[in-house]
Amino acid sequence: MRSIIRCSIALVIPIALIALTHFYTTPQAQTLRDRQLDLLILHGKLVDGSGKKPRMADVGISGDRIVFVGDARKANMTAVRMIDATGLVVAPGFIDPHTHTLGDLSDEKRKGNQAYLMQGVTTVVTGNDGGSVLDIGEMLSKWDEQGIGTNAVLLAGHGTIRGHVLGPTDAQPNAAQLEEMKALVARAMDEGAFGLSTGLYYAPGSYSKTEEVIELSKVAAAKGGIYDTHMRDESSYSIGLLGSIKETIRIGREAKIPVHISHIKALGPEVWGQSKQAIELIKKARAEGIEASACQYPYDASGTTLEASLVPRWAEVGGRAELLKRIDDSQVRPRLLSEMEVNLKRRGGAESLLITDAGDPQLVGKKLSEIAKARNKSPVEVALELIKTRDLSVASFNMNEKDIDRFMKQSFITTCSDGSAGHPRKYGTFPRKLREYVYNRKLITLPFAVRNSSALTAETFRIPERGLIREGYFADVIVFDEKTVADRATYEQPELFSVGMKFVIVNGKVAVENGAYTGALAGRALRKQLLPNRSQ
Ligand SMILES: [Zn+2]
Repeated sequence: MRSIIRCSIALVIPIALIALTHFYTTPQAQTLRDRQLDLLILHGKLVDGSGKKPRMADVGISGDRIVFVGDARKANMTAVRMIDATGLVVAPGFIDPHTHTLGDLSDEKRKGNQAYLMQGVTTVVTGNDGGSVLDIGEMLSKWDEQGIGTNAVLLAGHGTIRGHVLGPTDAQPNAAQLEEMKALVARAMDEGAFGLSTGLYYAPGSYSKTEEVIELSKVAAAKGGIYDTHMRDESSYSIGLLGSIKETIRIGREAKIPVHISHIKALGPEVWGQSKQAIELIKKARAEGIEASACQYPYDASGTTLEASLVPRWAEVGGRAELLKRIDDSQVRPRLLSEMEVNLKRRGGAESLLITDAGDPQLVGKKLSEIAKARNKSPVEVALELIKTRDLSVASFNMNEKDIDRFMKQSFITTCSDGSAGHPRKYGTFPRKLREYVYNRKLITLPFAVRNSSALTAETFRIPERGLIREGYFADVIVFDEKTVADRATYEQPELFSVGMKFVIVNGKVAVENGAYTGALAGRALRKQLLPNRSQ
């Protein structure tokens, strides 16, 4: 009996002590004290993604979340692993709202998405330009099962859906076909897509009228999605750069959907300088309450194909077989060539088109003008000759530095790579923006560049709990060296990894360690959390 009493007293004292401690500490601090963190990043210069100026702070991670931001020593924090970030910048992992990584993420050898991890990108959006997969759910599940190196967000592609319902024609949908397209957008959203993408410059998206896009966007809007567009015209091909911005804004207004302009630019000498009016149009729309924004890559060349840059869309109706027939049709060919002449002028001439297609070592690195000279033919004749063999990738030097700078300084313009084969932007965009525009030219500040590469993108695309270094957020964190961070990829060698990212952490796991990929597949296929239906 006595021993039982003694035992009880022995129990009562520690319980009272625990109760007292609990009384004087916050629940969160209590939880942290009870367990050791997994990872502490110490003594770094924190640029947290909010746009606020840098401060010294330690960052603690437990599982896949950031659980502590502050002075770890004062708070008595310990962790299984410590990273000393003295002299380095600690920032949220970058988010790229426009990539062409559907193939990479699905490929056994490339699913690590190393080109992006080495830039500090921890989340990529793909399915842009209207080209995605029809079965969004299946693709996301595949990525879940096989593992991916970065997080990934999918958009439903308008071109993919249109092509499925109408084929590669320039036909307009009848009521039943429009309903079918709407149902496909709804299904994509229900399966986790974050919005609808269009490529109105490309076939078959170019054949659609604005009204069709509005109807489909309404479906995405009702499910909390965004509208992301490669606009109908970034130059002077059809409705012009400003006409295209107006069309995008109209879609936002009438479909009540946030609109995001992909890779904003003034393409070609005829529209150089129009960045000013383009920005004014977007600002006016924003003042009206339309959530209009854009993204940009820091290069003066765009990356596309020879066919997309020169061949008029009417010649592509019906698909490739029809195009080949038209090229050889003596009735059609003269009109084709003369329109291609005009398009070539829009692009800045044959000097400004560089073949980047790695598939043909004889041609890669050559300008269209050089090939034309060697073959003793006009550039457009040679272009058709090349297009007949296959559709080659080109870098098209068509931007003016003043427009690039003006766009970059806007608070509503995010950073995107639009990464594609043969163009250095796939491997270099984010570090290049830091090296060139923050450190060398001082056009923008570091907190501004980080925000527009992380939190702003997360807000714009409604990606929850990412893009900031904040307690409770997912632990997508990068640690980089301001002295060395830089792109290395060039037009001659477009696949050189960027340097300077010391650590890249994805969902709490170290994917890049001391500048090298660890092989971790810590990314997740993200799914849109559907908003509750407001009408209910
Ligand atoms: Zn595009």
